Amino acid sequence: MKKRTDNTYFRRGDRIESHIIDRLGRPIKDLRISVIDKCNFRCTYCMPAEIFGPDYSFLPKEELLSFDEIIRLVRIFARFGVEKIRLTGGEPLLRKDLDQLIRRIKEIDGIKDIAVTTNAVMLVKQAQKLKEAGLDRVNISLDAIEDEVFQKTNGRGVKTKPVLEGIEAARQAGLPIKINMVVKNGMNESQILPMARYFKETGDTLRFIEFMEVGNHNGWNMDAVVSKKKIIEQIHEEMPLVALDANYYGEVASRYRYEDGDAEIGIISSVTEAFCSSCTRARLSADGQLYTCLFATSGYDLRDFLRKDYSDEEMTDYLIHVWEGRADQYSVDRAQGKPMKGNKIEMSYIGG
Ligand code: SAM
Ligand code: SF4
Ligand code: SF4
Repeated sequence: MKKRTDNTYFRRGDRIESHIIDRLGRPIKDLRISVIDKCNFRCTYCMPAEIFGPDYSFLPKEELLSFDEIIRLVRIFARFGVEKIRLTGGEPLLRKDLDQLIRRIKEIDGIKDIAVTTNAVMLVKQAQKLKEAGLDRVNISLDAIEDEVFQKTNGRGVKTKPVLEGIEAARQAGLPIKINMVVKNGMNESQILPMARYFKETGDTLRFIEFMEVGNHNGWNMDAVVSKKKIIEQIHEEMPLVALDANYYGEVASRYRYEDGDAEIGIISSVTEAFCSSCTRARLSADGQLYTCLFATSGYDLRDFLRKDYSDEEMTDYLIHVWEGRADQYSVDRAQGKPMKGNKIEMSYIGG
């Protein structure tokens, strides 16, 4: 393991007392942890059924990070700045005993917020348990409100009912909810207004996500992207919107409120308006690879370090070294026409 020699920070108790920033001046604040690479959906833009078929080899159990390993890493990351944890996948609710992981993360000093991103079909059974374990909030993915569109999008013919029931279960459990909708031309652009109308009524924040070119199998091209501008224009024409300030540094969605009510929408415009300059996120795959950008072509194998005899101090030094060397800004580079080399990581593997 590469050891730091320049001591630009110092330790006080269990915390690192200094601002660890990357080469573009960005601190690390969020860690997104994929807890499983499997999913019960086959969303066409994420895990197309033709590729992720019955013969696809997902990670065997022994290759997944154990809860003990995840907890050890979160503790180390929390020492030098990580405050927010997002559990994702694949479908994170497929990971057995997820509530126990949440309970243990909740106890870690410095972690202020734990969220889960899910397709929600298993929330009816789990929402209450997850809330009791300490989950702070949930992001639920739903790409259409009309069954015919949703059934095609999720690739498994699942109707919206189980997802809407999952949303209701989260509400009953007292979990703050945001709904995420990926918008892709030719797939679900017809659903922008129906989704906006539906969630304006329920009062849940709906966030539209520009279709991104993550992974290698979703046939991304610029024509398939519905821009933030188009989404806003469409909604504003029928339901006038007012722009709002960001809630905090590094918030990925631009926020709007309906003029005649409190409901909000957000737009995550990673394609047409890159927000790399405030990107404070690192990602951990289910088998322990660390990625410093959603569009990375390679990661850092933390599982290997975990399963060898490295101390927490050595791991901390290594991770600080990785973060201090980070210069990723893929969306900015793409906007400037810089070509990318190598295969990107699949979204279902890295977690979004
Ligand atoms: N299965 C969970 C879910 O769908 O919420 C968690 C994992 S999923 C990979 C996380 C998020 O990534 C979802 O909101 C999904 O819609 C989004 N996503 C996947 N592929 C995407 C793409 N190509 N562009 C934009 N968002 C994408
Ligand atoms: Fe599964 Fe989520 Fe990907 Fe859909 S977006 S295939 S629910 S991981
Ligand atoms: Fe962060 Fe990479 Fe996305 Fe830019 S492209 S916002 S650096 S994850």
